[in-house]
Amino acid sequence: MKYVFFFGKTKTEGGAEAKNLLGGKGANLAEMAKIGLPVPPGFTISTKACIEFLKERKFPEGLWQEIEENIRVLEKETGKKFGDPENPLLVSVRSGAPVSMPGMMDTILNLGLNEKTVSGMIKLTDNPRFVFDAYRRLIQMFGSVVLGIKGEKFGTVLKDFKIKKDVKLDTELTAGDWGEICERFKKIIKEETGKEFPQEPYLQLRTAIQAVFDSWNNKRAIDYRNFNKIPHHLGTAVNVVAMVFGNLGFDSGTGVAFTRDPATGEKRLYGEYLLNAQGEDVVAGIRTPQKIEKLKEELPNAYNELLKISETLEKHYRDVQDIEFTIEKGKLWMLQTRTAKRTPQAAVRMAVDLVKEGLIDKQQALLRIEAKDLEKILHPTIDPQAKVEVIARGLNASPGAASGLVCFDADLVEDWVENGKDVILVRPETDPDDVHGMMRAKGILTQHGGATSHAAVVARGLGKPCVAGCESIEIDLSVPKFRAGEVEVRQGDEITINGTTGEVILGRVPMVEPKITDELTELLSWADEIRKLGVLTNADNPQDATKALNYGAEGIGLCRTEHMFFEKGRREVVVKMIMENDEAERQKYLDRLLPLQRKDFEEIFEVMKGKPVIIRLIDPPMHEFLPRKEMLIEEVAKLRCQGKEKEAEEKEKILKIVENLWEINPMLGLRGCRTGITFPQISAMQVRAIFEAACNVTKKGVKVFPKVMIPLVCDVAELKVERTRLEEIAKKVMEEKGIKIDYRFGTMIELPRAALTANEIAEVAQFFSFGTNDLTQTTFGISRDDAEGKFLLKYIEKGILKENPFQVLDRKGVGKLMKAAVVLGKKINPDLEVGICGEHGGEPSSIEFCYQLGLDYVSCSPFRVPVARLAAAQAVLKNPET
Ligand code: ADP
Ligand code: MG
Ligand code: MG
Repeated sequence: MKYVFFFGKTKTEGGAEAKNLLGGKGANLAEMAKIGLPVPPGFTISTKACIEFLKERKFPEGLWQEIEENIRVLEKETGKKFGDPENPLLVSVRSGAPVSMPGMMDTILNLGLNEKTVSGMIKLTDNPRFVFDAYRRLIQMFGSVVLGIKGEKFGTVLKDFKIKKDVKLDTELTAGDWGEICERFKKIIKEETGKEFPQEPYLQLRTAIQAVFDSWNNKRAIDYRNFNKIPHHLGTAVNVVAMVFGNLGFDSGTGVAFTRDPATGEKRLYGEYLLNAQGEDVVAGIRTPQKIEKLKEELPNAYNELLKISETLEKHYRDVQDIEFTIEKGKLWMLQTRTAKRTPQAAVRMAVDLVKEGLIDKQQALLRIEAKDLEKILHPTIDPQAKVEVIARGLNASPGAASGLVCFDADLVEDWVENGKDVILVRPETDPDDVHGMMRAKGILTQHGGATSHAAVVARGLGKPCVAGCESIEIDLSVPKFRAGEVEVRQGDEITINGTTGEVILGRVPMVEPKITDELTELLSWADEIRKLGVLTNADNPQDATKALNYGAEGIGLCRTEHMFFEKGRREVVVKMIMENDEAERQKYLDRLLPLQRKDFEEIFEVMKGKPVIIRLIDPPMHEFLPRKEMLIEEVAKLRCQGKEKEAEEKEKILKIVENLWEINPMLGLRGCRTGITFPQISAMQVRAIFEAACNVTKKGVKVFPKVMIPLVCDVAELKVERTRLEEIAKKVMEEKGIKIDYRFGTMIELPRAALTANEIAEVAQFFSFGTNDLTQTTFGISRDDAEGKFLLKYIEKGILKENPFQVLDRKGVGKLMKAAVVLGKKINPDLEVGICGEHGGEPSSIEFCYQLGLDYVSCSPFRVPVARLAAAQAVLKNPET
């Protein structure tokens, strides 16, 4: 068993394909070495070694020998020796998992330094300032990563020291200063652990490797994996890399860059660097880094080489890269490359541009974009007409706008969000311990740090708005509050951040619907060429329908009619209609509702211009329209107390009716087609309204295509009764109007029995639409409203259920019923059209499953229409044999 893989001039034993074994960082270091890019040599200890170590709590057999052998190869290649006081080899020990987890685990630099090698290095470089700076970094990182000492301990000492010396920047400290800091840092280690800082380089190496293995299971790494659904069994690789030094003076430096703008996708090198700095200085926000363009002036040769390399990398990987580099005395070294995290906006632009540049084809472009992310592009932006009070400006680090309550603490964010609040996390800067709060916040605002700071990178990865490096605010965590000029903002106050412009705005501001960019239009047109599923939308009104059409919907798959009953001025009529026992009286109320409902349909038909409109007849239980029982009881009692007997009696009548309609289990009660069968006048009115509207709109010269959908059928007999009765009304209306229109009658499949008897139902239905919300409830026997707030999420946490079946369609159970229904239905009625209109219709994995089942269309909410178009195309590409 081989655990260790070398990369460098001597030999390179891995490559980009070995990500699972070598981790992303290790695999790509090897790959870069292979294609001749300047990478400091080193070796990678495989994830296998990590997994075995974590299991057995000791190095697997042979690992340590292999490490020693590889150190010897490294010594040969660099001409230095590990622990040699004359010419010491120093290394970094870096984690690197198979899936990128930026900043989630730990790295140690300058390993191999000790009292002896420090003296040697000073002689060698004649630069004691550099050597002591490097040494204190080692003690600091070793102390926190390996020995578990709180990082603040070191930070505070450094901060106090700078105050004492009256300097602001690390770069202003002298060799003597750093020497003194080294002593103090060593003292911290002695105090905290009772032991001296380890001098033996091989001991440093061994414990550092163990610590990196262990960091796979630290809290923030676990949180990150849970959030991103990364499996916990992968383990991390460890990279041991010869050090190159960016802190040797002002002809040296370190930086990070993206080969294209990760926020917008624009083609230009995008990054930051610091001269005379090492490692994490750039991302840690210690000094404000320079924009990469400035490097062109400061170190033109290194800059030009960086440009060339970034192009080479893009061509080689056929994707945008996120790189880390260090310049040592003018010479550029590559320390990392990986696929760049990007905002959904940027992802679309990059994919389309890469196709145009010939680096990838259209299919690859379509597969590159996470379909569900398109939803994020379509989140609202600040209304340009709105009057806003801009109180500060920072870097536009991750686009989009968000409003919420200011919160300075990541744990508190979690609490507030759980209590249903929108929150903006505000921090001086963020670090991995803030990630759990960042995941839940609506947006992130930081005072320090640049466009590649931790906050910016994580926010872009999460697709959340972020304003970073907003130096014009001053945070006081002791209150906590921040000040922006004259304005003081306290925890709990409301602000809005605009990550597209970098603005910070006081209060909540009105938002507008976003526009679809040209690139997205183009990408979706490629998706449309490929996909086989139709994409319809769930829309109850002309506004939503128009929005969905703009997003590319091909019709309405679910138009719910009961929402119309709740509208102003109608509710009272609806209530009276329901409470009326006398049929003739009830009809009077329905006659009043008819023209209103007709107008609703006319408006929708006019917008849809002949595209199919599937209208579901009234579905919810009647009592949803009535006042609440408890409220009525209270009112009756109150009136009695006040001696208002007559009024009390009136209210009591209502209460009686409400009590009559009250159900123990309304989800399974009088609803759906059962309402139509029990109170036939209501659906009769609705069908009349639909067909009158259709005729009227046709008369105006606009095409219409109504499809009437009868909900919650469990037996074909229900459908037969209803369709016969209602189709007669439809025919009568068309006769009255002298107009013939094309129409369909169909049903929803949302009960297991309906799915299992779909062959019978298909004889009467012209289409099926899977109502997978109800079908999931009735298949699992779980009431969603009761479950989601209580046990369901626990089930998911405990791994009893992999996913929330109300979000991601359950293929095993619900899917089996769907499959049965499709097969049974289409066999009897080959023209039967089958679609889905539950929330799953906009969820990529569920859409893929619908494609595999041979459905004709999916229907989803307007802002998920682009998601569905892309997911439908991806389904075809991922399932070539379907
Ligand atoms: P992360 O996964 O958090 O990015 P890295 O392993 O990439 O951590 O290392 C952290 C920092 O240390 C990076 O800025 C990297 O450039 C720097 N670094 C790592 N190894 C070396 C090395 N051998 N020489 C110089 N700098 C290094
Ligand atoms: Mg890195
Ligand atoms: Mg339903």
